[in-house]
Amino acid sequence: MTPSAIAIPARVFLSRRPRASRGPVGRGGASRVVSVRAAAGNRLRGKKEYVPTDRVASLQNEGAYAVLAAANALEAKGKDIVHLEIGQPGFPSPAHVVDAGVEAITGGKTKYSNPSGNPNLKRAIAEYVTRTRGVATSPAQVVVGPGAKPGLFFPTLALVQPGDEVMYPDPGFPTYRAMIEVAGATPVPVPLRPDGASFDMAAFRSKVSDRTKLIVLNSPANPTGGVMPREDVEEVAAIATSADAWVLSDEIYSRLTYDQSEGATSVYSLPDMKERTVLVDGLSKTYCMTGWRLGWAVMPEALAARTELLAVHSYGCVATFTQEAGVAALEGPQDQVDEMVAEYKRRRDFVVSALNAIDGVECPTPAGAFYAFPDVSSFGMTSKQIADLLLNDGGVAVLPGTDFGANGEGKIRLSYVGDMDTLKEGCARIAKVLGKLSSEDDADDASKEKKSKDDSSYIITPDSSKGNVGNAMPVIGGGGGGLGANMTWEELDEKVNTYPMDRKFQAIGEGGQSFIDEVVALIEKALGRNVPSGNVTTRPSKKGKYVAVNVTVRLENGNEVLEVYGALKSCESVKWFL
Ligand code: PMP
Repeated sequence: MTPSAIAIPARVFLSRRPRASRGPVGRGGASRVVSVRAAAGNRLRGKKEYVPTDRVASLQNEGAYAVLAAANALEAKGKDIVHLEIGQPGFPSPAHVVDAGVEAITGGKTKYSNPSGNPNLKRAIAEYVTRTRGVATSPAQVVVGPGAKPGLFFPTLALVQPGDEVMYPDPGFPTYRAMIEVAGATPVPVPLRPDGASFDMAAFRSKVSDRTKLIVLNSPANPTGGVMPREDVEEVAAIATSADAWVLSDEIYSRLTYDQSEGATSVYSLPDMKERTVLVDGLSKTYCMTGWRLGWAVMPEALAARTELLAVHSYGCVATFTQEAGVAALEGPQDQVDEMVAEYKRRRDFVVSALNAIDGVECPTPAGAFYAFPDVSSFGMTSKQIADLLLNDGGVAVLPGTDFGANGEGKIRLSYVGDMDTLKEGCARIAKVLGKLSSEDDADDASKEKKSKDDSSYIITPDSSKGNVGNAMPVIGGGGGGLGANMTWEELDEKVNTYPMDRKFQAIGEGGQSFIDEVVALIEKALGRNVPSGNVTTRPSKKGKYVAVNVTVRLENGNEVLEVYGALKSCESVKWFL
């Protein structure tokens, strides 16, 4: 079958614009025209329509929050869920830290403080960074914020603008892409090597350009748990220096390493890198203080002064009593941290071996943080489909790898912050769901082979006399939970035009890149707006003896992230999923 003879109705792609001419969404592209027109219509009817600004139009939610909400909703309906989705330490905050915070509140430390942090806390942070990174650091370099996130966001706003390129890990923490987009700079995702420990260094080298202004590092990493080898950090530093770029090093997991006696290499600690590095760290992970909201960024003084102004005009300052607790955390006993790291290592070892024991799952051993990032692509489903299945059928919440960027396709992220009983139960549930998938796959392959012999109506057959789409006379089978059985092209066309787009669909056909374009065009047509090419993921996968290409389009609808799938597979059907 030729690429044009595919399962897309003619009417749909008549109006399709070539992909090359598609303007970026939210930058004056077609979506904006459509929504402005809709807004004008509503205005005439006296309604107020919200039109997102370019700055926020393509922002997406952080997947962990969305999955947590879905898991909580299932729990509210009485379903038992094992939570492996959220990166929130299960241990309590250290007792002496809690005491310091309580004393600060009862002692009246409840007023405004300096926007960039209390002098006492800034001193403690500067000493901590000097001690742990081995580079003399002054309080004037420190900007304190509510968590580590402002330490990522605000220096980025102060460093880059439209026209600048920012390189960042993909898969990587979703805030990186968000902050780059809000700053109006161009995101340049860099894929990782297969074990997730570091950038794919060849790809990294090839993506550096004379517009590279900032390079984001995250070691140990979320979502892979990877720790960059020292030589890669050194190479990034050398390249940043020769490209005259800045480096933003997110070291929030710096104390959580399991196999390196010297810990993860901090780019800040390399010769001369202090001048061009923003080092971000905080208390959330190391001291189990996610809800206290305390983090910081260390940077050259001139940049710190500008970044402080963003603090002045946004959060104002961090809760004064939280800052007191922060001093106690950094300067008090560290035994809880050491015990916690030993326990995480035990949990990591358990989770990695339990996952690798499942047929079709491959899980590298992460050297840091508290995440495992196994490859589940052998099941021939998108990582979102696997995560949904695990949640709804298995009662175990994990995150799809694509929540961390297009290159996370085929992976899921589990966080092993829960206790051993939780992890044992979680892994057992995963093994059960994926084990069932494997056996269904085998049965599916056998029955497909039989069906293709017995039932020719299941197969799309080329027939030029009937064809209104290329040369294909489609007979659409509705297997596997599909809505339509034996639909004609006309019926399919009708269905596409009336189908509620807050549902998922999967179109399966045969073809090449043009089919991927058609799937995206179909989705855009149905939505009445275009989707940024960065939201489109394509991934070949193998299911049994079939090779499929999954096309995933991520869409933001209100607070909900929707995913629409199209998949190519030889001699298959169009399936509509509720
Ligand atoms: N960076 C990374 C890599 C993270 O995983 C997280 C939290 N999940 C943060 C930054 C944000 O930390 P905080 O909660 O202190 O803002």
